[in-house]
Parts: sequence; structure tokens; C-alpha cells
Amino acid sequence: MHNEACSLLNLDYVYTAFDVAPEDFKTAVEGLKALGAVGFNVTMPGKTILYELSDTLSDAAKLSQSVNTVLLKNNKIYGYSTDGIGYMRSLKEAGHDIIAQKMTLLGAGGAATAICVQAALDGVKEIDLFRRKSAKWNTTLAFADQLTSQTNCRVNVYDLDDNSSLKSSIKDSAILTNATSVGMIPNEQNCLIPDSSFLHDGLIVSDIIYNPRETRLMKLGKQAGCMTINGLQMLLYQGAASFELFTNHQMPVEKIKEKFFKS
Ligand code: NAP
Repeated sequence: MHNEACSLLNLDYVYTAFDVAPEDFKTAVEGLKALGAVGFNVTMPGKTILYELSDTLSDAAKLSQSVNTVLLKNNKIYGYSTDGIGYMRSLKEAGHDIIAQKMTLLGAGGAATAICVQAALDGVKEIDLFRRKSAKWNTTLAFADQLTSQTNCRVNVYDLDDNSSLKSSIKDSAILTNATSVGMIPNEQNCLIPDSSFLHDGLIVSDIIYNPRETRLMKLGKQAGCMTINGLQMLLYQGAASFELFTNHQMPVEKIKEKFFKS
């Protein structure tokens, strides 16, 4: 996607992949600085390591304690998080407005955290975050408290097994977002919502999974008359946001969509 965009815009950059062991991240970043690289993306576990290594962090990177896009300038490391930006833009481009409304969010992993942070920064009024009870429960509670105190969004945490809270949260929400891996190939029969009675007409049902293109959750949503959206556009727009940081040029998203993102 990045190389295609550079070629379309006649920009002299190349985007390539390196398999770097976690213990070598620091040296690799110093090497990229010495080579004059403009920046790079990282995936787990690099997102946490680059959060620690960055000299300056965007608000989203700070709040999510995660970095997926790095700019190298003036011998410094600038960390950003574009997953949430990509998600919010995917909704906007699809004509869905959730600002000042309520969101029910399933999951509390990397993607869910990024979405929660960006939604709060962008002006979503309230987020009910449902996660399974595990050793990470208290970390999620602390994250929700911090986000509530540092933004104008109230973030509440619930046990994913609490079906009655789940049903009533969705009833009050403009959007239900699955940000877990439940429903992804090869387990595409799985779904965290028991049945379509949990959903209502007018609700946006959003799954950030893009493989399969239509998850079981989205099928349930269609049965209940909901608007549905998969994760393909989030993937595109998080890349577009990184591209704009790297090059100061807008990614030609329509052409990129045509080439790589036909559903
Ligand atoms: P992650 O950090 O590993 O988080 C996974 C989340 O799913 C955790 O909250 C985990 O709960 C939860 N989960 C997994 N299995 C579950 C189950 N059986 N029941 C309830 N909760 C369960 O992964 P991630 O990076 O956030 O990715 C999550 C999904 O989003 C993946 O399918 C990934 O492909 C997709 N994704 C899409 C995009 C996009 O651009 N569209 C971007 C990033 C990720 P615990 O914490 O309790 O384990």
C-alpha cells in the first residue's frame, strides 16, 4: 500500500519489512536513524517497546501506551498511534457519526485500547468496555479511569459474561464494536453476542476483523436491521494516517482501495 502510494505520487521512498528480535529493537532504531530513514511502523511486541523508546509521544500514543508509527527527525524518536485514527476515519468515510454518542466496545487488547482512546479524544460521550475477567482486569480498570479523567469521555468496564449489562449497554449505544479476535478465520462461527435480540434497528455493528469479510456478528447485525462495517477500511486508513506522517502527502486512498481493498 505504501509503495503503491509512493509510486502513484512519484515520491522517492521505499517501504520494506524487517524481522527484528525484541532485544535488538533499540539497536535497529539507532541503525535506521544513522541510515536517514524517515520512519517506520511496528507491530507487537514493538508497539510497547517503541512506546518506551520514544522521545515524544502523540496524545493517542501516550494514552494507549502503544506506538505503531515512528518518525525519526533531528535525531529524536516521535511515536504515534494510528490504529484508532484509522478506525474513526473508517466510520466517518462510511457515513457513520458517533460523536457525542455512546459506544459498546468488546475487548481490551491492543486494537480495542487504540479505538477506545481515539474515540474518547474525538468526542464519543461514553464507552462501555466489555472484557473477560482475567489477570488483566485491574489494568483495564486503571486504563478506563485514566481515560475518563483525561478526556471528556466516560469509560466503564464490564465483565463480558454479564449478559444483562451487555444487552442494556447496546440498547443505549449508537455503535457496537468487536475489537477482539473472536469470529476471525478459522473460528468464523464464533461470536460474542448470543443472538440478534441484543441488537436494535439503527445500531451500527462494527467488526474490526476483515477475514472473513462478513463475520457472524455482522450477519446477526444484518438480521436485526443494523448497518454493518468490517475492519478492512480501518486497515486502509491507519496506513493512510502513517503515510501522511511519513511523507506529508495524503495517500491516494481511492486508488489504493481499488487495487488492494476490494471486498
Ligand atoms: P490482542 O491485543 O491480542 O487483543 C485481543 C483481545 O481479544 C483481548 O481483549 C482478548 O481478551 C480478546 N479475546 C480473545 N479471545 C477471546 C475470547 N474467546 N473471548 C473473549 N475475548 C477474547 O489483539 P489485537 O491486536 O487487539 O487484535 C484483535 C483483533 O483485531 C484481531 O482479530 C486482529 O486481526 C484485529 N485487528 C484489526 C485491525 C484492522 O486494521 N482492521 C487492526 C488491529 C487488529 P484477553 O485480554 O482476556 O485475552
